[in-house]
Amino acid sequence: MEHIKQLAQSASRMSKKIELTELSKEELTEEILKIGEKNFRAKQLWQWMYYRGVTDFGEMSNLSQALRAKLEENYTITRPKVVTEQISVDKTHKWLLEFNDGERVEMVYIPEKDRGAVCISTQVGCAMGCRFCHTGSQHFTRNLTAGEIVGQFMVARDTYKEWPSPTNETRYLSNIVVMGMGEPLNNLENVVKALNIITDCDGIAISRRRVTMSTSGIAPRIVEAMQRTGVRLAISLHAPNNTIRSKIMPINDKFKIEEVLKECQKYQQGDHSRYITFEYLLLKGINDSSENAKELVELLKKYKLRATFNLIPFNPWPGCSFKPSDKKTVEIFSKILDDAGFAAPIRVPRGQDILAACGQLKSKMPKA
Ligand code: SAH
Ligand code: SF4
Repeated sequence: MEHIKQLAQSASRMSKKIELTELSKEELTEEILKIGEKNFRAKQLWQWMYYRGVTDFGEMSNLSQALRAKLEENYTITRPKVVTEQISVDKTHKWLLEFNDGERVEMVYIPEKDRGAVCISTQVGCAMGCRFCHTGSQHFTRNLTAGEIVGQFMVARDTYKEWPSPTNETRYLSNIVVMGMGEPLNNLENVVKALNIITDCDGIAISRRRVTMSTSGIAPRIVEAMQRTGVRLAISLHAPNNTIRSKIMPINDKFKIEEVLKECQKYQQGDHSRYITFEYLLLKGINDSSENAKELVELLKKYKLRATFNLIPFNPWPGCSFKPSDKKTVEIFSKILDDAGFAAPIRVPRGQDILAACGQLKSKMPKA
């Protein structure tokens, strides 16, 4: 209740109206009861918003005129504004989105043959400052709200006209990766709320198995985040030991590799279906030697984790001094992991020509 009051207060400062995409299903029901309507109206409203993608109360034809007018008067359903859109030669689609206060994030859709993943952001900028990441070079501005996180995916659905929510078999926007800008576990409350809205089966209905959340390794929040969202876990490991990891990821000084892997063990305990993806970014001469690969194998074996790797070739961005590893080096690295029983596919970079690949997203234009 307290939470709704706060939302209401901040909304009234801005527009005197409450933004409905900021509310969980339970909070939306409370609101509807508060304005004197029955429970089932909340479900109808939810379906209009999240199953049909409607933003105009006037179109909600199974609600009475009086209720539609009441909703219009007190509430809003807002989408982030699309500032620019770019489509890569490989069909990767990038949107620059703007929120009410003028802050911006980028979102990417990576199409495969008959499906595809939408990569969404959770923060404007990022406080983690990973040396290889364009987002990390831009500092942290603010967390995105739950509505802003959900709103991104709804913009993608608007663009591809995937309303009403299609079945799993027919949807192109079939998967979500929480791998855009920001560290999701540093914005956990809003991310949990957003993912619960996105995966709710009366609405957008993306299955939890088709959502993957990537973290740089905020160890104490990993188990909680997975329990509260039920999505898949990816860890940005990027190094086989603390010396290398601390050089490229400052967060490693706070949460060491061992601490992160222990939490991964806890997460997998008692549930054999839980696989973890370890993302490993290959940086020339930094973390890409055969010795590094062997050390990585030993590390994973020690913790007995059920895991696959995702080897990511480094995507350069303006002003960054790292270089991508040679093709041959990447292949040798992948084979060492593979021979040790860990699948280690090499991720094909997508959308590089429009700076839409991993780690290239930004919120601000480069300074002139
Ligand atoms: N903050 C979260 C999720 C977003 S980053 C995290 O770090 O896990 C998504 C992935 O892109 C991470 O594995 C990240 O390390 C990787 N990445 C960052 N910069 C990159 C770059 N320049 N080239 C390739 N991958 C990069
Ligand atoms: Fe933040 Fe992830 Fe980029 Fe690191 S890689 S700076 S955690 S967005």
